[in-house]
Amino acid sequence: MTSVHNFSAGPAVLPREAIEESISGLRSFKDSELSVLEISHRSSWWGETMEAAEEQVRKLLNVPDNYSVLFLQGGANMQFGMVPYNLLPSNETAVYVNTGTWADKAIKDAKIFGHVNEVASSKESNFNYIPKDYTLPEKAAYLHITPNNTIFGTQMKAFPNPDYPVVADMSSELFSRPIDVSQFDLIYGGAQKNMGPAGVTVVIVNKDILGRVDREIPGFFDYRNHVKKESLYNTPPVYPIYMSYLTMRWVEEQGGVKAMKDRNDEKARMMYEEIDRNSLFEGTAAKEDRSVINATFVAKDEEYERKFLKEAAENNFVGLKGHRSVGGFRASMYNALPRESVEALVGLMQDFESRVG
Ligand code: PMP
Repeated sequence: MTSVHNFSAGPAVLPREAIEESISGLRSFKDSELSVLEISHRSSWWGETMEAAEEQVRKLLNVPDNYSVLFLQGGANMQFGMVPYNLLPSNETAVYVNTGTWADKAIKDAKIFGHVNEVASSKESNFNYIPKDYTLPEKAAYLHITPNNTIFGTQMKAFPNPDYPVVADMSSELFSRPIDVSQFDLIYGGAQKNMGPAGVTVVIVNKDILGRVDREIPGFFDYRNHVKKESLYNTPPVYPIYMSYLTMRWVEEQGGVKAMKDRNDEKARMMYEEIDRNSLFEGTAAKEDRSVINATFVAKDEEYERKFLKEAAENNFVGLKGHRSVGGFRASMYNALPRESVEALVGLMQDFESRVG
């Protein structure tokens, strides 16, 4: 058991069990007597693991049969471009809800390929809430949303449901709660939060929405190639996929995404209760839109902010400094963060208040 409390936003805390098992795979993968770093991605050792990883995603999220599960590289950032490249004809419009820095970047990239209707935005108040009072157009190539906003600590509790495809950047919340995959047509996420280490991006795509654009797409950027080759179009990021598989298996052993939701809800409840109670701190996101995963808060006095960060570091808390666009603190509470870490942070905040408040 590590004594460090890892509240990092990503790369983030992973289950110890998965890390330990991957260390044994680094020494010798299955019965190969080769490291997982050395085996061919065409070997049967790898083929079985890749299949198991895909199966694990399908099982955890109940992915319908007409959807492909892809393991790609390039991070969520690459999906900002790959989505419109594949789904936005140059004379059509895609609808985006702008809920933060990442959504903003996705919008910028989409504009390269076609028209963008930014139907709602909370930019004017530094993205501290999820816009809700907007009307979606009747027609569009797709709608793009970011259900959990890692930097600003906001999270959608309900999803829009238009008559056209819905694309969701779920980087910081995939596997943290049950979702109905059939409500979406493309889900993507960098693995480095709830799913595994950096280096692999999962894409879950309804195959029926592909092939509508008539522009030429370079091979790697064309989803259809990855669907056809089952994520072996190029050499896949073998180790990150392996570690993601072990992490997802751990999620299943813990009771699946429903169990993760219950644990995450409880951690978030404890965290926000203390933020609201403590006279030295205050939350930055609108209460009804608070993220269960990333809790953002500030100290009411700048002096306390510096002091608290210093004390936190001295007490083995890492990753608590807020993103520069919000300031203050951010406690990221991904699946593998134990409840005890939140209890310890709450304890430190209480102790801090009693001494300096
Ligand atoms: N979208 C969201 C919601 C994120 O949290 C992040 C990373 N923090 C990204 C996109 C960018 O991901 P990547 O670094 O994998 O490109």
